[in-house]
Amino acid sequence: MATTIREVCTSSPEETIAFGRRLAAELRPPALVFLYGELGAGKTTLVKGIAAGLGAAHEEDVNSPSFVLVQEYSGAQRVYHVDLYRIDRPVELETLGLDDLLAEDAIVLVEWPEHLVMPGVQASLHVRLEIVDDLQRRIRAESVGQ
Ligand code: ADP
Ligand code: MG
Repeated sequence: MATTIREVCTSSPEETIAFGRRLAAELRPPALVFLYGELGAGKTTLVKGIAAGLGAAHEEDVNSPSFVLVQEYSGAQRVYHVDLYRIDRPVELETLGLDDLLAEDAIVLVEWPEHLVMPGVQASLHVRLEIVDDLQRRIRAESVGQ
């Protein structure tokens, strides 16, 4: 299994979105993507780029899903945006039905994957975002090839 690591430092939300578009170009369904980083790190901003790059949604239509755990974007490809921030007790992938979505060849993007119970769940891409200062973010993307 080959692992590819990409690291960038972005200086604006637009640059983070552009990096998301680049990541999207390498994603093939089914894919599970884990996005780590504190509140405000830029996970949702990156999802804008990934979902737009996949032709699933317009950037402006991607937001933090406040009331739904799983937001579907259906366009050229089926993309699901999951935000587990409000989950206060670890939840299983199956409980959310995410295993079924992956079985149906979707791309599933998960914010706060730490809130998942994960025995045997393999993400194909792990992205870690860190706040450097107001406008700078360090983003490290690690993809696990088949
Ligand atoms: P998260 O989903 O990780 O909580 P969001 O993407 O919702 O984070 O919010 C990131 C915030 O940081 C937004 O208000 C965005 O405008 C701001 N921001 C500033 N600089 C950047 C950058 N380089 N990349 C991404 N977001 C940035
Ligand atoms: Mg978010």
